[in-house]
Amino acid sequence: MNTETLNPETQTDHQNVYLRCFAGCEGKHSVYDVIYRCPKCDALLEVHHEREALSEKNADQWKALFESRASTTIWPYGSGVWSMREWVIPSLRDENVVSMAEGNTNLFWAERFGKQLGVPDLWIKLCGNSHTGSFKDLGMTVLVSVVKQMMAGNSPVKAVACASTGDTSAALAAYAAYAGIPAVIFLPAGKISTAQLIQPVANGAHVLALDTDFDGCMKIVQEVTQDQSIYLANSMNSLRIEGQKTVGIEIVRQFDWEVPDWIIIPVGNLGNISALHQGFKLMMDLGVVTRMPRFVAAQAAKADPFYRSFKNGFKNKISVTAGDTLANAIRIGDPVSYDKAVAAVQETNGLVEEATEAELAEAAAQADTTGMFSCPHTGVALAVLKKLIKQGQIKRNHRTVVISTAHGLKFTDFKVGYHESTLADVSNEHANPPVYVSANPKAVKEVIAQRLGL
Ligand SMILES: *Cc1c(COP(=O)(O)O)cnc(C)c1O
Ligand SMILES: [Zn+2]
Repeated sequence: MNTETLNPETQTDHQNVYLRCFAGCEGKHSVYDVIYRCPKCDALLEVHHEREALSEKNADQWKALFESRASTTIWPYGSGVWSMREWVIPSLRDENVVSMAEGNTNLFWAERFGKQLGVPDLWIKLCGNSHTGSFKDLGMTVLVSVVKQMMAGNSPVKAVACASTGDTSAALAAYAAYAGIPAVIFLPAGKISTAQLIQPVANGAHVLALDTDFDGCMKIVQEVTQDQSIYLANSMNSLRIEGQKTVGIEIVRQFDWEVPDWIIIPVGNLGNISALHQGFKLMMDLGVVTRMPRFVAAQAAKADPFYRSFKNGFKNKISVTAGDTLANAIRIGDPVSYDKAVAAVQETNGLVEEATEAELAEAAAQADTTGMFSCPHTGVALAVLKKLIKQGQIKRNHRTVVISTAHGLKFTDFKVGYHESTLADVSNEHANPPVYVSANPKAVKEVIAQRLGL
């Protein structure tokens, strides 16, 4: 007997919140079903919320509700994701929400950096200030919660699995461990940072390091999860998108419901930009906002299939073999959420731009001298910001938000390499290695006088 189908809340959900084909085929599937693609055409699915059901509140009432919950301790609303529970998965029962108070990340004014670049209204959304150090927590809290509710019924699911360039596995391992659900992780051996590798190891996941790249791991995990007992947690699973979509809503809430002109986001598998779009579409439909920001997808030039597709007018999807980039979390050659991301760029009058290794490293280092501590992916977004300012696209009076996707502390190898000037293809304009001085007051004073120009 399936307890889910007996739960009246879930039944309501099935009518109002369900999975449907992104390409438009007919058919509704429960969010508690083990299904990732449309059975008719193989396109990705999306979670759809019937707008009618959400019109119980008007825009001002929704805003007031979400504001009232920001950072409360009342379970589970202290989470930035679950504070918007009605817009995420309303039928999850309290006891199945697997949350570590993700979201509510800081959106700060990058005053000095923005002024250096000539765009004083520059803001950074620091998604890396989260439990596992990246925005992936936003999606995993939703996916693992749904799995917990499935497993409380008679679902065949026994474990969760993902392929990862590092941050997805850290988030999955942490949330699965919090819920007591086994996790299987597929990583490209030797292609991720030490911090990224040690997180799932510490959380007790089954970590399989494969002698391939991310795209190779992705193929294997799709094969392994054909069996209904292992649930696929990659971003082709649209439950992840439901959690990640809250970032756009949160940004707008933090601006007192004003919409910025631009949002720049580093992209790899293209799930996060699709999520950003989902969040904004929902706000538009409910009248919470009345215009869209322009989205900019930022890619590393060494792994730039989406940039090439954009240059090609999105005539067809281009895939590449992703090269070795410092931005390892976006080292992806065959992005799974391509169709969703094309819609996100086209429907927001958006752009796709790319950055070389030297550009991303310099942009990150320059930003750091103004108080940030940028991961290489954020470096890609910052380098793209500089290019768009130069091209005259982003203007002085535009409000721009850069989504910082991970915490710089996960990428200390990148930082150390930069400041020791050992990175290939990267100059060292901002390198600032420590000065070794003998422990002698006279020598120390001399160095200080010299460095400060006293
Ligand atoms: C996953 C990830 C991205 C890319 O997100 P996609 O949804 O794959 O486009 C960017 N930056 C970091 C740090 C990530 O972990
Ligand atoms: Zn379909």
